[in-house]
Amino acid sequence: MSNGRLVIISGPSGSGKDTILKRVLEILPEIKFSISSITRPMRPGEVEGEKYNFVSKEYFEDMIKNDMLLEYNNYVGNYYGTPKAPVEKVINEGGEIILEIDVNGQKNVKSQVESSLSVFIMPPSVEVLRERLIGRGTDSAEVIEKRMKTAIFEMECAKNYDYIVINDDLEKAVEDFVTIIKADRMNIQRNNKIIDEVLGKC
Ligand code: 5GP
Repeated sequence: MSNGRLVIISGPSGSGKDTILKRVLEILPEIKFSISSITRPMRPGEVEGEKYNFVSKEYFEDMIKNDMLLEYNNYVGNYYGTPKAPVEKVINEGGEIILEIDVNGQKNVKSQVESSLSVFIMPPSVEVLRERLIGRGTDSAEVIEKRMKTAIFEMECAKNYDYIVINDDLEKAVEDFVTIIKADRMNIQRNNKIIDEVLGKC
């Protein structure tokens, strides 16, 4: 059996990463999803325990103290963190787990975890991203400009990732992500034991 894999997906607000991830998890249901603990208030439509566990600031700070987080970040005034135990369990069992985290989280994980796979979801252009954010109709012009500034910073960090997926066409972006995961299953790092098995050395 191949070794487990920690997969990171990041992308700016409006890149479509949530939609892509949802589709990829439907196509590859054997992949686990890491539920983050966060302190921001729940938004309408969000469900406790689905994408996030909504916890108090005090509880989160206890998690930090007790070394229960693989990584965490303070994002626009709220804590977001990846609980360590579920990730370690999946990896130790040889499975795959996807972390949907921001660019700071990716940097932290990369420096701690020897082998991870990171994928950045990119909009086709800055103009398309701005049009998508305006099209949502949920933010003021001022908030959109703030989000655009953050997005540009995040997109500059894409060079620190292993792969880039351009979300111009949703179907194509989903297919590209699935291709990356499937190719990674054949990565030599994850399959070095197979050589000895084929050669009858174990
Ligand atoms: P939102 O509040 O829009 O759900 O998420 C804001 C940002 O936090 C997104 O970029 C999302 O990917 C990131 N995020 C979600 N969970 C985590 C986490 O556990 N750790 C880190 N570092 N970022 C996270």
